[in-house]
Amino acid sequence: MAYHKEETFDKDITESLKDNYARILEQLGEDPNREGLLKTPERMAKAMQFMTQGYELNSLDILNSAKFEENVSEMVIVKDIELYSMCEHHLLPFFGKAHIAYIPNGYITGLSKLARVVDVYARRLQVQERLTTQILAAIRESLNPLGVAVVIEAKHLCMMMRGVQKQNSVTTTSAFDGIFLKNNVTRNEFLKLISSKLS
Ligand SMILES: [Zn+2]
Repeated sequence: MAYHKEETFDKDITESLKDNYARILEQLGEDPNREGLLKTPERMAKAMQFMTQGYELNSLDILNSAKFEENVSEMVIVKDIELYSMCEHHLLPFFGKAHIAYIPNGYITGLSKLARVVDVYARRLQVQERLTTQILAAIRESLNPLGVAVVIEAKHLCMMMRGVQKQNSVTTTSAFDGIFLKNNVTRNEFLKLISSKLS
């Protein structure tokens, strides 16, 4: 095999989560020993660890690992970054897109690093508002740019599957600082660019 990707999980945590999930299945009226559910507690334990791995990742390490001195001052935009997170109120997924822009002030970072920073904070228990500002703060701290803008559009399963059962509502959150805050023209240019479709 030329390529092999290995996932590793903490054994003790996985075992303990597995026991807890088996009990939860029981309390929900299921039989954790029936065939289809035999491996479910272990799968849940691993899936939840995967989806909360962001607690162990450091966004500054990621951004700084590809930080380069560069004398440009044009807006850098990465739009439509896929995002999957979990609301901290119901542990149900919310998912959508993040759009990020910054105006360099002597330094740039790898474009893929911006997408990875989204995952660092998305793979935790979140509220969309905090996710938005945490991404902004990480870019601000690493690159000290002239301005940062983050917009997130997401659908929340806790609103779609339960509660008000609104299937088509999209929640939009935004955070701006520096030039994006002070200068309407720059902010509008960003908003126009993220809403336009590439032809
Ligand atoms: Zn929720």
